Amino acid sequence: MRRGRDRGDESGPPSTTAELRAEGITTVEVYCRRTGCRHRAVIATDRFPDDLPSDRFAFRLRCSRCGARRPEVRRDMLAHYARIHAKTGWRPTESGPLPAHYKVVGRDVPWPDEEP
Ligand SMILES: [Zn+2]
Repeated sequence: MRRGRDRGDESGPPSTTAELRAEGITTVEVYCRRTGCRHRAVIATDRFPDDLPSDRFAFRLRCSRCGARRPEVRRDMLAHYARIHAKTGWRPTESGPLPAHYKVVGRDVPWPDEEP
């Protein structure tokens, strides 16, 4: 993977919504932290203001299943791999087409339940 300046992960300030979009990142994966729930969903980042740092995303989210606040927000790896595949043809071993339940929702749509 080509890397520019460090952003997001361990070093450097977190990217904002607009900066992520400029990199082609328009979705994140969120996980409910509550034991026994662990609800997971993929959400579109265009629900957030352009200047919101990515480490603030969790503060704006609430689990649609149990109501817990501040889910864990992670990089959307499936979309990440899909972008790499589109660009280079490379495909990680375990990665195939996006699964059927993989749905992206727009601004102001509640954190969706994952379909079976
Ligand atoms: Zn939950």
